[in-house]
This record gives sequence, C-alpha cells and structure tokens, in this order.
Amino acid sequence: MACLFGHKWNGCKCEKCGKARDEGHNWNGCKCVTCGMVRNEGHQPDNGRCTLCGGKMLRADVFTSEEMSLIGELMLTIQGGGQQVGEKEKAHASELVKLSLQASITGDGWLSQEDINFISRMIMMYASALGGAGKHAESAKYNTLIKKLVEMDENATPQMKMMANLMTSL
Ligand SMILES: [Zn+2]
Ligand SMILES: [Zn+2]
Ligand SMILES: [Zn+2]
Repeated sequence: MACLFGHKWNGCKCEKCGKARDEGHNWNGCKCVTCGMVRNEGHQPDNGRCTLCGGKMLRADVFTSEEMSLIGELMLTIQGGGQQVGEKEKAHASELVKLSLQASITGDGWLSQEDINFISRMIMMYASALGGAGKHAESAKYNTLIKKLVEMDENATPQMKMMANLMTSL
C-alpha cells in the first residue's frame, strides 16, 4: 500500500516499497547489483561456477568436437529458423553458434545451465521433427547427444527426461 500513488523508481527497484521491475537494471556482468536479477550473459566462470551469480557452468570440452559441431549446426538452423522460432530463441541460438565456433577453434568456452537447457530443448524438438518426417537415420545421430544433454541439464523437466528416454531407446 506504500506506493498507492505510484512507485519511486530507482532503475529497476522502487525506493519506497522495494518492488522490482524488469527494466533499468544496473548490470555487473550477469547480475543486477540493484535487484539481484540474473541474466544469461556476462557470466564469470571459475572452477565450474559463476563467481557473480553462483550458477553452475560447464566447460565446452564436456562435449567432443564432433558433438560440438552438431550443436553448432543445429544452432545455426535455429538462428535462421522460420516463424516457429521466437526472436529470443534466435538470439540465444546465435550466441551459441559463436560459442561453438570459438570452442572448436580454441577448445575454450563455457556453457551455463540455461544454455544446456536451451540446447536440449531445441535438439529434442529438431530430432523429433526429423523422426516424424521419416528421416530416422538423420535424427539418430543426435541420440547420444540428447542423452548426454538431459543428464547434464539440472532444469530438465520430467517430460524432457521421458522424451529423451523414448527417443534414444528406439
Ligand atoms: Zn513502490
Ligand atoms: Zn535490477
Ligand atoms: Zn553468472
């Protein structure tokens, strides 16, 4: 009730009642120093964790170079995807295209849990569409990668795990 006649915004946070809004953040890498919100950008990986937000980070070399290039190819497809793919997804895919290129050249790069979750969702969507289109041989090359991704994915939903099991047991 404190702000019945309007909040007094200081960037993303109201000075009077403490309410936060999703604009005017003051980013330090991945984390807003005013409200504490975390974005999937500017993480500072060190020893498997981001030192700013504490999120788990995986080195790109958890994937073989073959797997990494499969991921890169798929992200390129998503980036150029049609209307079914949202702008946010396209932007995320484009970041991951860069990451997979960098990883294949220097062997370096880090993936956040949000990245892992995004890749597993996209790859399952893509592989199941291929399977549905009767291109089972083509979708089969993603099976090992799907299994691996879902195991790494702390945010995998039960449906995603079930789908991964179904797809990879065929
Ligand atoms: Zn307020
Ligand atoms: Zn903020
Ligand atoms: Zn972070």
